[in-house]
Amino acid sequence: MTTKNKISAEQHLLNRIVAFKKTAWFPVVENKTGSVLTSKFSGIPLLNENETWPKCGSCHQEMQLFVQLNASELPKEAQQAFGGGILQVFYCTNLEQTDKNSECDAYYPFANSALLRILDPAKLVAKTLNSSPVINAFEEKVIVGWKAIDDYPNPEELDELGVELSDAESELLYEQDYPKSGDKLLGWPAWIQGIEYPDCPDCGDRMKLIFQLDSEDNLDYMFGDSGIAHVTQCEKHPDKLAIAWACC
Ligand SMILES: [Zn+2]
Ligand SMILES: [Zn+2]
Repeated sequence: MTTKNKISAEQHLLNRIVAFKKTAWFPVVENKTGSVLTSKFSGIPLLNENETWPKCGSCHQEMQLFVQLNASELPKEAQQAFGGGILQVFYCTNLEQTDKNSECDAYYPFANSALLRILDPAKLVAKTLNSSPVINAFEEKVIVGWKAIDDYPNPEELDELGVELSDAESELLYEQDYPKSGDKLLGWPAWIQGIEYPDCPDCGDRMKLIFQLDSEDNLDYMFGDSGIAHVTQCEKHPDKLAIAWACC
């Protein structure tokens, strides 16, 4: 295919699936320390004055703060991404297999080695810690802005949505990195093993993507072998949140 023909083939494909175009948001970060209320990767999270740092339900060590998102700091178009308040994702990266049933670094949703929650900063008294108790805590990165980017579903999801792509079209989509890899807010999940939205434990509905965490993007962490993790939420039950990942 000539370059010109390829560009028109890409345009033709994107026009065909334009109904499923979504905006994803890439975080713009700075290596610095932010307040407990700000959006960030790692660092000190918002905690209630009487609360201790969340610990892993499996190994009982303090968990890493993967990401904290303050809804009031999100782009206007994405302000309702998860309702309001401050979303926190804690995850245990402890790989030491102390026993065979260790659930740390769990790939499946609702493991007891992760904690996801939404706090209302108006309803709690914030406490500030001087340092993180997490062993080998990741470097803190404050999210200072968001960059909008078009995103499209992968061929398998398009098929579910009633659009069947040819092999050549699937390849074109893949070459353009749709769905986008990397850490992002909203958009379409870049699935590695196929469609894996968890079901809400309360109502059974398919949960929706809030945030994608890629290996070694903003967090110096690898999910298995270059895996990608997804933070999802039930639309009807905003307190039902999950993190799950897959790799090749
Ligand atoms: Zn653990
Ligand atoms: Zn639900």
